[in-house]
This record gives sequence, structure tokens and C-alpha cells, in this order.
Amino acid sequence: MAAEPMNHSPQLSDDAAAEGAPAGPVEPFDGNARLFERAQRRIPGGVNSPVRAYRSVGGAPRFVRRAAGPYVYDAEDREYVDLVASWGPALLGHGHPAAVDAVKAAADRGLSFGAPTEGEIELAELVHDRVRRDGRTPIERLRLVSTGTEATMTAVRLARGATDRPLVVKFAGHYHGHSDGLLADAGSGVATLALPASAGVPAEIAALTLVLPYNDEAALRLAFERHPGRIAAVITESAAANMGVVAPLPGFNRFIVDTAHANGALVIFDEVLTGFRVHAGGWWALDPDGALDVDLLTYGKVIGGGLPLAALGGRASVMDLLAPLGPVYQAGTLSGNPLAVAAGLATLRAADDEVYSRVDAASQRVQAAVTSALTEAGVAHSISRAGNLFSIGFGLTEAPRDYDEVRAQEAWRHPAFFHAMLDAGVSLPPSVYEAWFLTAAHDDAALSRIEEALPAAARAAAEATSPPS
Ligand SMILES: *Cc1c(COP(=O)(O)O)cnc(C)c1O
Repeated sequence: MAAEPMNHSPQLSDDAAAEGAPAGPVEPFDGNARLFERAQRRIPGGVNSPVRAYRSVGGAPRFVRRAAGPYVYDAEDREYVDLVASWGPALLGHGHPAAVDAVKAAADRGLSFGAPTEGEIELAELVHDRVRRDGRTPIERLRLVSTGTEATMTAVRLARGATDRPLVVKFAGHYHGHSDGLLADAGSGVATLALPASAGVPAEIAALTLVLPYNDEAALRLAFERHPGRIAAVITESAAANMGVVAPLPGFNRFIVDTAHANGALVIFDEVLTGFRVHAGGWWALDPDGALDVDLLTYGKVIGGGLPLAALGGRASVMDLLAPLGPVYQAGTLSGNPLAVAAGLATLRAADDEVYSRVDAASQRVQAAVTSALTEAGVAHSISRAGNLFSIGFGLTEAPRDYDEVRAQEAWRHPAFFHAMLDAGVSLPPSVYEAWFLTAAHDDAALSRIEEALPAAARAAAEATSPPS
């Protein structure tokens, strides 16, 4: 594991931290470790979202001061090739001029109005035009919210309102944000911290969510047999990417749609991560099962281009049940915020076919380098893919199909691998349960740095030892 930067700074007094004042003279290179220590005094765990805390890899998280293109720069002004991309939004690379200029221009016109704006219509029209296949789109209406969590939470409420049924089916290892009903057996940070569920979710609420193994048709059929007329919706990551990447098996997404509809339930495709990342029209437009008859889709991450913006969309007959037209309530003070809409519009408009070819090509080049380095070092592994998203399964010989298979991997090899990459100036997601995010800004120089870093990281992974069980 990498040595921590030495902390020569004097201890911060509690009062200084409370006032937000830096203790002592402000140094040009305020170490990450020192910032982390200060953060932990006033912010739970020192972070505002758990996976940022490096709990599963150890060490102090890198505090980012700025980012540009494929690079992030930390508090010590070290440069890293970034493969986190803000967990997805930075499809074009960091600080893309089109997005930044659009946000600056929007800011000059005012930050938030609590009234409708033309930009919101443009974004709804753009998504309607863009999520399209064989001349049709599943997005007849779109409502903007601020986070992916709100989008999926609202989609579930809408499905319950539309069907007048209480239960929701989700798949183990899928992450749909942190609303109460969707946290059971969730991916992302919940998987990273190995939590079965969250404290604070009443059993009565958890009981309304049926958690099934992913890619298991028999389990889904059985759930509908056991709960006739009670299941409002099946929510699924259109291609799972929060337990590492686990694509749906051929035919599985179609089976979900057919089975749900045959039983009077709706289907929610959660594309918060995959939407506008794996393809101009998201996974829905790329799905090998064809243009599926999905009722509701949720978006986040790329749609906001780095600002807080998310959305749910779908067929008009369901979406029009939302207030003010219908009885299902949903609202947001900052929903459709003009700065966020400007960033989203600029990002989607810039994300043309060439951007997706670049991201696809960069992803393939890195996958090839990962495989060759790990093979050379003698580390058995799988690479699982969904479009340009991929992840490594240490110790696996085949790409995992569900959460149990994902968790069977040698996750203990990841911290050594991660820190060797970090030491060489490459910032990976600090969890083995996350995808690697390439961007259109990953040029030859950035990709070469990744390729150069991989052999030593692969050797570190090979030398890692299993913790005593
Ligand atoms: C990130 C994510 C969410 C939650 O979005 P937030 O904006 O973090 O609330 C929901 N679903 C999926 C598939 C995601 O990847």
C-alpha cells in the first residue's frame, strides 16, 4: 500500500476548524492527509458521499483542486489521469469549454427562478429526439429532477400510482440511489462497504421491495407467481454497472419486459449511469434485445454534464399521472435549474457520434492493456463490459452474471492494484465494484500513461495476499 504523505503541519485547533479558518500560514501544497484530517472533524467520515473516502483501499482520499480534460489535480498539485470522471458525468472530459461557457452565460442571466424556462423544453425535446430506435422513442414526456435518487424514487412512486400495487422488484447488486425502498442489496458504496442494507430503513418499507438475483429468469417468473396482482414494477439497471459491470444476458431485458407486462406491472429502466454514456441514446438504444417497450426510464450523471440534474421519462399515459396533471405528487425547488440545464444541453449537443467512437476506442485500448498486464503478471481475471463501460473481476475466469459471482472475486487484490496506479499518476475508482470511466478527452498521452502504469500495478495485484478469513 502506498505511503501516506507525511503530515508536518501543526494540529488544527478545534476552533480554527469550526470557523473554517486554515490553521497557520496557508501553504501552496496543503497535503491531502492534512485536509482529510480537517474534513473528518466537521464532515462525517470527511466526505459527502461514502465511496470518496477510500475506505476499501486505505489511505487519505485525494482532495481535488481542479480538473481539465482527462486529468485531475490534487491538493498537492499532483496530476492524475482520471478514470472516475465524477462517476460518469464527465463524458467529454473535465471542463469542456462548451459546457463551461454555457454555465457561465446562464449564470449571468440568474441562478434560479422557480419558474419554467425555455431551456427545460429544449432538453426534453432533445432527449425525445435522441433516445430513438427504429423511428420510435420511449420518452414521450420528461420531468427534470436534481439527482438520480429522486428520479428512481419518483419512478417507483409513479409505477405504484399507475398500478395501485405496493411491491417493487429490484435485482441484487443494482444501485438505484439511496431512497429507503431501493437500498436493499444495493451496489455502489453499499456493496463497497459490504452492507446488506441500511440502518434506518423500517422493515415494513424494506418488505415492499423484492430482491432477486440478476439474470435469473426463473426467479423473476416465481416472484410474479408468488405475488399475483401485487407487483407494481420491476426496476433494473438497463445494464448493471454499480457492482462492477454486469451486462444483462441476451434476452434477459426482453424477458423482464414481457413478464412484467403479462402480469400488469411496469418496467423501469434505470439509465442514470448508462444513459448518454454507452451510446447517444443510452443502453436502451444499444440493447441487443432490440427496442424494448419500457414504461419509464431514469437519467442522471451525463445528462447534467457535471451539475446536479437528473430526469425521469416515459410513456405519456404514465408520466401524465404526475402532479399537476395527475394524483402522483413530485416537486423540486431547484428542479430544472437553469445552470444545470445549460450544462446538460451543452454536453448532450457536443456528445456526437465522434465522441462515442472516441470513448469506445479509448475503453477498448485500456481493456486490452489491462488484460495484457494482468496476464503477464499471472493474475487470473475477467473483464466484463457493457458498451464502453468495463470492470475487472480479480481471480474470475468468466465475466460474472450476478452479484454472488461478483462477490466471489479476489477483491483483496484491488487495494494494492489501485495504489500502484495512483502512485503512477492514474486515479481509478477506489472500489472494485465500480466501472472504469473513460472520456472523449482521454487522448494518446493520457492512455499511454495508463498503459505504462499497468504492469507494476498488475505485479502488485499478483503479490497481494488474501486476508486471514
Ligand atoms: C448514480 C446512480 C443513481 C443515483 O444517482 P444520484 O445522482 O447519485 O442520486 C441511481 N441509479 C444508478 C444506476 C446510478 O448509477
